[in-house]
Amino acid sequence: MANCAVESSTDRLSEVEDKQMIIDRNPFARLRIKDTRALSLIQKRGKCDFCHKSRKFFCYTCYHPVVTCLHFPRVKLPIKIDIIKHPREIDGKSTAAHAAVLAPMDVKIYTYPDFPEILNKEETVLVFPNKDSAKNITVEDLFKREERSCDISPEIPETIFPIKRAIFIDSTWQQTKSIYKDQRLRELRCVILRSRISQFWRHQKKSPRWYLATIEAIHQFLVELHTYALGIEEEYNNFGDLMESNTDKWFDYCVTNNEEIMQKYNGQYDNLLYFFKYMYEKIHSMYNHNRLLAYKRPVK
Ligand SMILES: [Zn+2]
Repeated sequence: MANCAVESSTDRLSEVEDKQMIIDRNPFARLRIKDTRALSLIQKRGKCDFCHKSRKFFCYTCYHPVVTCLHFPRVKLPIKIDIIKHPREIDGKSTAAHAAVLAPMDVKIYTYPDFPEILNKEETVLVFPNKDSAKNITVEDLFKREERSCDISPEIPETIFPIKRAIFIDSTWQQTKSIYKDQRLRELRCVILRSRISQFWRHQKKSPRWYLATIEAIHQFLVELHTYALGIEEEYNNFGDLMESNTDKWFDYCVTNNEEIMQKYNGQYDNLLYFFKYMYEKIHSMYNHNRLLAYKRPVK
């Protein structure tokens, strides 16, 4: 989950809605996600090495895959991600586990009141809207602060990203507030994301469509962070490509080293949406998009 700031004028809204209709027709077309057909071939459930329960693809309680690594990509992230999960969030329905399975070296999940150790408040942000909206900052603002406080050569990779850790809260729209009350989170800077509309099929009462699934929010945050740090490849960013129906275009794209991370954004973290895309397509093969309640929510 996370909030996005959506621009408010009516004109802007209809433009957002029009653009959204195009994206909704084929939401993952632009993203560089490994072919998910490998998952469709897996009929049997596997047994989790840790809890021994029967699972499909991965264990959503131990965040451990039950299929071989040939069936899913691994993603390397430029910073560490901690996810704090609400104890009553239903494991099987949350998308937080996707991040931990796909980027095991960089993502850790805590079930509240378990809590990540925050060693450096300046290098850590909470991706969540502050109650006091004046205190919210954008990803772009993180870079402004960096320019003011630090003039180390940008050639040194460690200094390209102004933070080292981002915390996300994994819970429903209603549960999130109870975790946010924790004083340790209140001491962190709150970052809000740019406009993005959720493709999550799970309907949540009263939540608007810009309330993202956790995995969507993590992906969005990393794309913004990377784009401000290093730019975005023109070809990747071309919205016109969405008009074409290019569902056959898929990418066996796995980022495994720092060198690839240091390129302009061209999809390095898109595979975080690998299981999300597979499940989205499965749900949409069973149900008509226009009839799913989750997509009937207003975009604003
Ligand atoms: Zn398990």
